[in-house]
Amino acid sequence: MKYISTRGKSPALNFEEVLLTGLAPDGGLYVPETLPKYSQQEIASWAGLSYSDLAFKIVQPFVDDTIPADDLKALIDDTYVDFRHPSIAPLVQLDKNEWVLELFQGPTLAFKDFALQLLGRLLDYVLERSHRKVVIMGATSGDTGSAAIQGCKRCKNIDIFILHPFQRVSEVQRRQMTTVLADNIHNVAVKGNFDDCQSMVKASFNDKSFLPEDRQLVAVNSINWARIMAQIVYYFYASLSLGGPLRPVAFSVPTGNFGDIYAGYLASKMGLPIDQLIVATNTNDILHRCISRNDFTKHPLVHTLSPSMDIVVSSNFERLLFDCYDRDGAAVSDLMTRFQSEDVVLKDSAFSNIQALFDSYQVDDERTVETIAEVYEATEYLLDPHTAIGVEAGRKVRRRDDIPMITLATAHPAKFPEAALKAGYPREPELPHHMADLFQNEERFTVLDNDIGQVHDFVVANITA
Ligand SMILES: *Cc1c(COP(=O)(O)O)cnc(C)c1O
Repeated sequence: MKYISTRGKSPALNFEEVLLTGLAPDGGLYVPETLPKYSQQEIASWAGLSYSDLAFKIVQPFVDDTIPADDLKALIDDTYVDFRHPSIAPLVQLDKNEWVLELFQGPTLAFKDFALQLLGRLLDYVLERSHRKVVIMGATSGDTGSAAIQGCKRCKNIDIFILHPFQRVSEVQRRQMTTVLADNIHNVAVKGNFDDCQSMVKASFNDKSFLPEDRQLVAVNSINWARIMAQIVYYFYASLSLGGPLRPVAFSVPTGNFGDIYAGYLASKMGLPIDQLIVATNTNDILHRCISRNDFTKHPLVHTLSPSMDIVVSSNFERLLFDCYDRDGAAVSDLMTRFQSEDVVLKDSAFSNIQALFDSYQVDDERTVETIAEVYEATEYLLDPHTAIGVEAGRKVRRRDDIPMITLATAHPAKFPEAALKAGYPREPELPHHMADLFQNEERFTVLDNDIGQVHDFVVANITA
């Protein structure tokens, strides 16, 4: 399997190379050159597989011969050991033909664990094999940092430095990062805001000269192909649990960077009968405007009750555009370059391609809170604010009532207590038992000024691996 850039000007890579790479040199994102396609019969034969056995089926063709099958199987079997539910991704029914897929049973209570638990293991495996060691740097405003830290805490060949804005992430989110005391985990609280953290990480990737020569710098942000790949699995898993592939299903996906729902699109292209994919956004609704009325213009960032979906542009959308522009890298490159500086629209055929499978809906904070309250009232099931946006979008723009609508539940409600309290829930939602000691555990982090020199000195002085 080869991976090519959406902008058409970078050499193709194999899986191992793409695993260690972020953006392509031409500014594009890597996508598989071809997708494996499965018949209904083949997909039906996977019914009843455990989550990790199914994951192996889906993931293996993408990894191809870069990792021997037995080794890959062992890595995948190990990936989901820290998930608390025997089904790994349980379905909960809210109403007739309405379901949520709980993707928050992993160590940090958000769906990002599905990708980052696998990514950490894959990276450590290929690094060990080639006697290489790397530094991961990332900036986080919440969910990604903790999932990356949990994914890498047992990796011998990785030092991970996560920058978060000092005193500007929630206590649960901070503690999920800072109570992981492994020697290769380095939490830095920067006296600045999230953008300052992100700028320093970007600058580090642009000029890596601060690092010792034997260290490569690796990103684990949502454009990493391996993260997308891991997310394809649960679309198949959910469908098979509800009578697929014979019976089509629909998905509503709380969306920010478009990584999660892009994996659903790939599942559909691989042969899974998906009737509809709904892009559910909060007030940061560039994707909703684009998909519903071809308005692909940037609006300023708004802070909402669903912070993990607060984005101005969604980087992974370019991967869908690449297909909708008939894989014409030059056309995508031209569109994305113009998008930087002017208002653009998609060409008609691209827009209608998208609308064939996708719908979208925007849910503001007020309606998010009302949805949490309504669903709790009807079912005593407490939604986190991101998932609530998905549920509401599913109700508003579903095409067919006789097809199961599955909303991806992307986070546990205890991660975002403010929304629950606003919805009238009588107390802060409880953390699951296994995390009950989060507020007692020792924390470790280093506070640094908003100064890239200080950050680089800290990184170099603390490399352990
Ligand atoms: C990251 C995240 C999202 C958005 O996912 P994308 O892949 O960026 O679209 C939604 N909900 C939660 C809770 C998240 O952490």
